[in-house]
Amino acid sequence: MKTYRVLVVEDDAPVRNLITTTLRANDYRYIAVSGGEEAVMETASHNPDIVLLDLGLPDMDGVEVIRRVRSWSNVPIIVISARNEDEDKIDALDAGADDYLTKPFSVNELLARLRVTQRRLMIMNAGGASDSVFVNGQLRIDYAAGCAYLGEEELRLTPIEYKILCLMAQNVGKVLTHKYITQQVWGSSWENDVVSLRVFMATLRKKLHAAPDMPQYIQTHVGVGYRMQRVDG
Ligand code: CA
Repeated sequence: MKTYRVLVVEDDAPVRNLITTTLRANDYRYIAVSGGEEAVMETASHNPDIVLLDLGLPDMDGVEVIRRVRSWSNVPIIVISARNEDEDKIDALDAGADDYLTKPFSVNELLARLRVTQRRLMIMNAGGASDSVFVNGQLRIDYAAGCAYLGEEELRLTPIEYKILCLMAQNVGKVLTHKYITQQVWGSSWENDVVSLRVFMATLRKKLHAAPDMPQYIQTHVGVGYRMQRVDG
């Protein structure tokens, strides 16, 4: 039986305690934080299975947390909020939340929502085991762990660099246009921001090209875009 790891984001201490006590009593592992910045950081560094997210946070709106996390991660996000307006729910769901629980909520309701999310995760992961690792020469991406390696060495990538790398890997051999990459990585509002893309691509390529005798994984197609080429092991 898998033990699920839950990130709890809630600044209201009594509510946070109720949630963490419930999780502990039901054999979940958890990390609890009270701010949006921390939430984004913990999601990136601890790769939780599920995020429980309050919207009214002291440093950042929860919807912004969802947007940021969604720029690189598909982790299920269940919003727990006192905001009960349709508009707030729609904003959160549009930003990429998976479910919405209105405060005050019962412990049983919370546990039921968690079980639904776990079932969805199990379906998503079933049969996908063989696709969970990408290998190209020395480069290896472990999608489940959210890590990339060059040989034995773990690459220290920013979330954006990691997302670009995954996108290139999923389309290995194909030229991806600037527009396609920026749309996939940042969303349509950043479409065609070639300058930012070039900056991220330059640092990513530097990290991938650790030694002079290493092959170039990413080719530039001037004026068009980029391509990850297959290299020999
Ligand atoms: Ca709050």
